[in-house]
Amino acid sequence: MRKTTKEINKQKIVTVVAANYVDILIPELLEKSFEAYKKRDFIKKHFQVSVIENTYATAGIVLTILALEAYRNRIYYMLNKPLNKMGLVKSLSQVFKLKEHSFPNDFFEEILTELVIVRDVIVHNHLYEVEIINDENWEMIGHRQRLLESYGDSKRLNSGLVSERTRKTRNLKLNVQPAKIGFEDLFTVLVIFDSFIGISDRILPNSYVPSRFSFKLDGSYINRLSHLLSHYYSNYSKLTSLHNLTKIYKKLKIQLVPYFTDHKDYFLKNTCPKCGDFGFHQPKKIYKCNNCNFKIELG
Ligand SMILES: [Zn+2]
Repeated sequence: MRKTTKEINKQKIVTVVAANYVDILIPELLEKSFEAYKKRDFIKKHFQVSVIENTYATAGIVLTILALEAYRNRIYYMLNKPLNKMGLVKSLSQVFKLKEHSFPNDFFEEILTELVIVRDVIVHNHLYEVEIINDENWEMIGHRQRLLESYGDSKRLNSGLVSERTRKTRNLKLNVQPAKIGFEDLFTVLVIFDSFIGISDRILPNSYVPSRFSFKLDGSYINRLSHLLSHYYSNYSKLTSLHNLTKIYKKLKIQLVPYFTDHKDYFLKNTCPKCGDFGFHQPKKIYKCNNCNFKIELG
C-alpha cells in the first residue's frame, strides 16, 4: 500500500464572542441612554428613570459584565489555569493578586461584587414595590421602595454592600432598584471596565485582553473608551448630575490607578494637572478641564 503524506495545518482559535460587546455595541447603547438622560429634570427627585434611558443602560450593563466574564475565561485559558467554577469576582481578583502581590484585591472584589449585584437585579427581574408620596398638587415629595419577598439574592443584598436607605451599592453608588438604573450607572460600570483593561494591560501580556475600540462621534473616530467617557464627563457634568460621581471616581483612582499601565489613557488617570478633575484628554486631541478651564494647546 502506498502511503500518502499530506501536510496538515492546525490552528487553534479561541473564540471569545462576548468580549467584543464593549468595543462594538456599548458606545451606541451609551449614546442612546444619554439622549434620554440629558432630558431629565436634575432638580426633581425620581423614583424611576425613563423607559428609554433604563432599557439602553440596563442592556449596556449586562453586556459589559458578559464581556468581563468572556475576558476572564480567555485569561484563564491563556494562563492554562482551571476555573473550577469560580465566580467572576474571585477569579478576576485572584489573577491580579497572583501577578501583583500588592494589588488591593479586597477592594477590587467589593467593586466586582457590586457589579454582579446590579447585573443580577437586572437579569433576574427583581420586583420592587414603590410607594409614591404626593402633596396636594400631586407633585411627588418622596417615595418608599421595598424588594418584594422571594426576589433578590438575600446573601448578596445583605453583604453590607447595598444601602437599605438609598438602594444603592456602597462603593460605586449603583442603583439596585431596577427602574432607577440609568445612564450614570452604565457610565460607572464602564469606568470599571476601562480600569479592568488598564490593570490587565499592565499585569498580563497584551494578547490576553485585546481591545479594539472604535466609535464615530461627531464625524471623527474615537479609539479609546476612556476618551468617549471623557467626552460625556467633561461636556455634561455641569448640565447633569454626572459631577456627583466625582467623589466615587477619586476613591477608585487612589486604589486602582497605581496598577494601570503607564503609556495609555484610562478614564481614572485622565485628570486635569491643575485641579485633578476627570475628563482632561477629550476626543479630537482636546486637552481641557471644564472644571477650572486649564488647557494645553498642542501646536
Ligand atoms: Zn482643572
